[in-house]
Amino acid sequence: MIFRPIYTIDTIYHLDPTELKKMGIKAVFSDLDNTLLAWNIRDSNQEMAILNKKLAEAGIKLIVISNNNPERVSKAVSKFDVAFWANARKPLPFGILKALEHYNLSKENVIMVGDQLITDIQAGNLAGVKTVLVKPLVETDKWNTRINRFFEKIIFFFLNINKKIEFKESLKWMKN
Ligand SMILES: [Mg+2]
Repeated sequence: MIFRPIYTIDTIYHLDPTELKKMGIKAVFSDLDNTLLAWNIRDSNQEMAILNKKLAEAGIKLIVISNNNPERVSKAVSKFDVAFWANARKPLPFGILKALEHYNLSKENVIMVGDQLITDIQAGNLAGVKTVLVKPLVETDKWNTRINRFFEKIIFFFLNINKKIEFKESLKWMKN
């Protein structure tokens, strides 16, 4: 099913660069709001810079793939030297596909991390990268996300029938 993540993890900040490297991962594509930072906080925290550095030391690039406009995304991440791709138009796969091409990456070497099934996971699955669902950093959502969350609950119900979606501190395989 197009909404099923390949992996889950409780938060992007628990990703283990050594494990990713062993998996052949060369880039982590990440959603911004509620995945890397809380949507209602304008400035990102130091955690993002630490993650970026840890990944870089393992030779892995962190690239933010966001539906937000370039101004908002740039404000949030550029001071930490994190690359980004704005106006990605998830759940369409084209933003991810363009970023793959731009950074000269093959889809086998990329994970797409996000907190929403309908936007992040669907886009990642359509693009053919490895998808990783995380728990949203904060419980509240922007109004447009709230609509998605309603449908997401229904999708979770069906996904859980085959294999329960669980979040652990390390990557958990979610395919049937
Ligand atoms: Mg999000």
